[in-house]
Amino acid sequence: MRATCRTAVDAAWDTLYHSGDMPVLNESRFQIDTRSAVRVLPFSAPAFITCAVAGDMGPPELGETDARHTALTAAGLSGYRLLTVKQEHTLTVLDAEAVAAKLSAGPETALRPVADGIAGDAAGAPGHVLGVTVADCMPIYLHDREHGAVAMLHSGWKGTGILLSALRRMEERWGTRANATEVLLGPAIQACCYEVDAERAEGFQRTFGERAAVRRGGRWYLDLQYANRKLAEEAGVRDLAVCTNCTCCGDGLFSYRRDGPSGYRRMLAGIAVE
Ligand SMILES: [Zn+2]
Repeated sequence: MRATCRTAVDAAWDTLYHSGDMPVLNESRFQIDTRSAVRVLPFSAPAFITCAVAGDMGPPELGETDARHTALTAAGLSGYRLLTVKQEHTLTVLDAEAVAAKLSAGPETALRPVADGIAGDAAGAPGHVLGVTVADCMPIYLHDREHGAVAMLHSGWKGTGILLSALRRMEERWGTRANATEVLLGPAIQACCYEVDAERAEGFQRTFGERAAVRRGGRWYLDLQYANRKLAEEAGVRDLAVCTNCTCCGDGLFSYRRDGPSGYRRMLAGIAVE
């Protein structure tokens, strides 16, 4: 299954890459080794994702404290404070200070503000890790190397476009330029597995281009990687890394689609403000 999946995804990317209708990005593609509890990602700011063997985040809203500590320690970020938000597939990106201020008022899960992205820098939120949880949705990591600002995003089909929200917010606040910002698209469900109905697929195509959904054997599949790659490129991003692990058919990652609403668990994706 894995070999078939990889072949299909590679073929789609190769077609895209050689089609000539998109300029070539400074783009790297990589796979993560999912055998360890936490993988530090190849990125210019400290960035990680937990894998399924350990350090996961448990069922939503439960049992997160120990897993958070485990994950941050394994990522070499013990002593950092983790900031998370109440994710609802929005396009909202909040400043880290605003999230920290809300969480400081009491028990974290009850007070987490609704958003799907957090942005911060060392002047405003030193010693923090910006985190989102994922299980098929894509974690997106940003690092503005000119101003030292970072952002961590949760982007599923409904929230696709939050990458642009983040770039806009970072531009407003720090003067961030997309072409000086490194973007990493983390592990997510890929076009090999992300079957959707025709209505959703066609809507996705209308918004993000024909290749953002593919049809195979009479079924429709979304391509989150394509959609976000296109958004990044059109925004002016020139430095993109793409993780090619599929959460659903690859080993060692959590998948809502594969494991179902009662059985799925979540991975923590984080980036440190330094
Ligand atoms: Zn797959």
